[in-house]
Formats: sequence, C-alpha cells, structure tokens
Amino acid sequence: MSIKWDTRFLGLAAHISAWSKDPSSQVGAVITDGNRIVSVGYNGFAAGVEDRAERLADRNCKLNLTIHAEENAMIFAKRDLTSCTVYVTHPPCPRCASKLIQEEVKRIVCIAPSEDFLSRWADDLKLSQEMYQEAGVEYQSYDIEQINVDDAHITVAPGGFFKKVMNRLLLRD
Ligand SMILES: [Zn+2]
Repeated sequence: MSIKWDTRFLGLAAHISAWSKDPSSQVGAVITDGNRIVSVGYNGFAAGVEDRAERLADRNCKLNLTIHAEENAMIFAKRDLTSCTVYVTHPPCPRCASKLIQEEVKRIVCIAPSEDFLSRWADDLKLSQEMYQEAGVEYQSYDIEQINVDDAHITVAPGGFFKKVMNRLLLRD
C-alpha cells in the first residue's frame, strides 16, 4: 500500500477518533481490504450502555466498560479479516494486538505516539511488538513529519482539516 493511501486511512482513523465520548483518550481505527473500507471503530461503551459522567470519571469502571477502537472495528466488520490492514491512531494495546493477530490481519499501521504516551505505555507496546514479530504481522508506524498531507489530497476543508485533527490528536496524548 502506498504512503498516499496509508495517509488517507490514518486521516480517516483520526477523524473517527473524534467521535469517541471518552474525555481523556480518543482512538480511531479503520480496517481495510486493499483500498476498500471494511469497518471503522472508536473507543466507547457498548450501544445502549449509558456513558454517564460518573462512569467516565471512575477509571476502573471506564476501563471495564470501554470497547477499544480496534475491538469495535473488528466486531462491526462481521466478516473474515484475513489479510486485511488495520489503521489506528495509537499503537494497539496487547489485548487488541492479540485479537488482531488471531483475526489474521496482515498489517497494522499507526501514527507514532508522543513521548508522553510512549513513556506511559512502553511495556504494553513492547509486548504488542513482540507478538507481531512472532506471529509475522507487519507493523508500521508513521512519524507525523513523514506524512505529506498535500500529496494525499485529504484536505477536505479550507484550513487543512486533517492537519487540525492530527495536531489535536498529538497534543492530547
Ligand atoms: Zn486495545
């Protein structure tokens, strides 16, 4: 897959991440088969489960109720994900990574996390990386500087919508 399409789908994942109601972490995921979108997801509670402020404020409760972006994308896909690619705004946690591996996706692409995010989740991210290597899943992480948004023609509004989303995404890490 070209950097142009990777950028487009990462931009879409960034856009979708903003739909999350989680006040502290908003993650978006897009599953593709070639250039076709198979499914999308963002982190949140199951449909119908009330995202009340006190539940979102209680860390343990929130962790127990939250379906991760990658999990939601897998659930909503309702199909075999063999050889699909998964685009995520953040590097997948080990629990999502193992599920993605089990679904036999071939590639996981994400935006390189900020230093702050890395320092908080270093052990988890290392574990995910180890699993990708052992299971033969390709993992690619793009530094924001690597992405040329103009080449990808993904600016859909004056002022650079994608750039704004990405800036916000990076700042809130
Ligand atoms: Zn996860």
